Amino acid sequence: MPKPSKAALKKHREHLLALLQHLGVKIERMEDSVLRSDGETSADEVDEFGSDTYLQEFQVGLIENEDEIRRQVFEALERIETGTYGRCEACRGEIPTRRLEALPYARYCVSCQQKAENGELGDD
Ligand SMILES: [Zn+2]
Repeated sequence: MPKPSKAALKKHREHLLALLQHLGVKIERMEDSVLRSDGETSADEVDEFGSDTYLQEFQVGLIENEDEIRRQVFEALERIETGTYGRCEACRGEIPTRRLEALPYARYCVSCQQKAENGELGDD
């Protein structure tokens, strides 16, 4: 299995750091908007990340549990440091670059993620 290139890792790392920064701002804004019951996405946010899907996944995740996402972002940054980034934690397979670009803190490949969501994934 080819490891992600240094350039790709650098890109993912920058992505994660931007995400982390964005999360902080976002959480504040979200708390704001929750108070006003207004969860609208502004156009400049879409431009900033250049991808609706990414933003959508990001926001869904954020609404589900923003602290959990933040923790996962930190873990992903750690994995970059330890050289295990881009590897599925369940099957040890390679997580496709496209998936990492959409979800830079992804822990699992697509099929393991589905298993995890269906509760089919073992403890190991
Ligand atoms: Zn997997």
